[in-house]
Amino acid sequence: MKNICITKPYMPDKDKYKKYIDEIFDRSYLTNGGPLVDELESRLAKFLGVKHLVLVANGTIALQVSFKALALSGNVITSPFSFIATSSSLVWQGLQPKFVDIDADSFNLNPALIEQAIDSDTSAILPVHVFGNACKVEVIAEIAKNNDLKLIYDAAHAFDVHYKGQSLLNQGDISILSFHATKLFHTIEGGAILTNDDQTALHVRQMINFGFEKEESIVRLGINGKMNEFEAAMGLCVLDEYGIIRKKRKQIYDFYLKHLDNHLQRQELNMHSTQNYGYFPILFDDEKTTLEIKNKMRNENIYARRYFAPSLDMVSYFESQEKCPVSQDIASRILCLPVFPDLDHSGQQRIIDIINRSLV
Ligand SMILES: *Cc1c(COP(=O)(O)O)cnc(C)c1O
Repeated sequence: MKNICITKPYMPDKDKYKKYIDEIFDRSYLTNGGPLVDELESRLAKFLGVKHLVLVANGTIALQVSFKALALSGNVITSPFSFIATSSSLVWQGLQPKFVDIDADSFNLNPALIEQAIDSDTSAILPVHVFGNACKVEVIAEIAKNNDLKLIYDAAHAFDVHYKGQSLLNQGDISILSFHATKLFHTIEGGAILTNDDQTALHVRQMINFGFEKEESIVRLGINGKMNEFEAAMGLCVLDEYGIIRKKRKQIYDFYLKHLDNHLQRQELNMHSTQNYGYFPILFDDEKTTLEIKNKMRNENIYARRYFAPSLDMVSYFESQEKCPVSQDIASRILCLPVFPDLDHSGQQRIIDIINRSLV
């Protein structure tokens, strides 16, 4: 029987990609702000409805550069229910993640717990729109403003999500995206830093190119965070097909909704926000059942994943003083089901059957 992984990189039209490759070979211009990176930047900024979008090498460097650009220090309030890079990037930059527990329904940072976690060393809040579900952005913005904190959204899952009629990616001082091969929209490896602030955008641009302003003028500390032309070419091809990707993902999503046992607990979605169908998380009653079902699937070559286990407050090197029982509970019971554009109905039915049969 066919293997079904949690996701599968989207492969766009090969002939179109080959044409871009031919152009790149003719130009011998491989990186450092080439024409394809420029083109993808402007097309994405327009498509997503944001003012400044700077393409970078990956989502993790997008986080790291953002922390530097906003001059963060001390500790940063963030969610324990996320991919490890959200918090490991803080530690890599010499910052301490301060975990605040999540809301049991939305799986996002619980705004009611943020204020009490702020201390004199706190410089920022780093929430995650987990599985593309919009955070309570107004409340969080108010808390950041009242406490003079920077606000950075890890929006790695929130490509093309709209909130109250405008791009969700306009929230905060900065939002970051990941364009890793397994993400909804991808450039093989890649990411972006998005901001409405002209000064921040300029600094970020200089920072990802070693701090150069122009050829012989180095104006700040920088690093190498650039995207290359081959990656941008992939992005241009995938973007052309994004409408199809979204449509197919919605069909897969709706098929799960229709056929999965409707007693399964699911993430509660922000009613003011659109969906991008990036993930299909479900919750079981306890960890034992979750592992049993995951193993049953694996025996039939289906690879669902426990995103995000472990809860990051349990990862030893963070030495977290804050324990987050809600996040730990969700992490122990969650399973993300395979979703990718060419997953067919028969594949989905195999997954659905295993789950529904296990619940009776
Ligand atoms: C994928 C992901 C990242 C990291 O992005 P990379 O491009 O893989 O470096 C960061 N945060 C979240 C929530 C992610 O899912």
